[in-house]
Amino acid sequence: MNLLIIGPQGSGKGTQSELLAKKFNLAHIEMGQLLRKETKKKTILGEKLNDIINVKKELVSDEVIFEVLTEVISNIPIDKGVILDGVPRRQTQVGLIEKLFEKSNRVIDACVYLDVDEQESLRRISNRYACVDCGHKIVLGKDVASDEDSCPFCGGDIQQRIDDSQEGIKKRLEIFHRETRPVADHYQKMGKLVNIRGEQSVDAVFQDIVAILSNIK
Ligand code: AMP
Repeated sequence: MNLLIIGPQGSGKGTQSELLAKKFNLAHIEMGQLLRKETKKKTILGEKLNDIINVKKELVSDEVIFEVLTEVISNIPIDKGVILDGVPRRQTQVGLIEKLFEKSNRVIDACVYLDVDEQESLRRISNRYACVDCGHKIVLGKDVASDEDSCPFCGGDIQQRIDDSQEGIKKRLEIFHRETRPVADHYQKMGKLVNIRGEQSVDAVFQDIVAILSNIK
């Protein structure tokens, strides 16, 4: 099975992708994470990506997305399915990804759309932290009580993502509604959209997705 998962910031794409990857034995490809890894490198591309992602808080060019994805997908055995988390993010990426899948004999079985409203996105993202050392994702109020606490997994310092500032989230949500929402409409027309209410517990969201996917395959 090959899946896409899209949704506004804080809708739970990462969490649900991990659960789905485990359940259906899929390789989880988290676009944002792959790009953030590049921003840490002292290369021309790394600096350019840092400027786009962390300073301007815009979308990265389709060329870079395609290049990174081509490389990652070429290293995954063809008999293992994938879940693409956070991509396609604009309509021009749809064709590129479908072509890439076709080339590697993969079919997109479904596009999961996790829907949460803006207030919920803002609330969840303001609690989203990560460990500076081990990179573990940490939720304030669940994994730690305060932002002064250390990482419960390795004891390292925790911090918010640079692009998760209030101004950063607002801008990225606005881009989501303008650029990414039409991608869901595309898969809706193809009869491949799995529309899920994201404002439920992690387990309830997961059960809803699995119930629909089980009817597909
Ligand atoms: P995310 O972790 O999904 O919030 O992504 C972090 C940032 O990476 C986004 O705000 C974009 O700048 C960039 N990014 C991630 N996925 C894509 C994509 N499919 N197309 C363009 N830019 C992306």
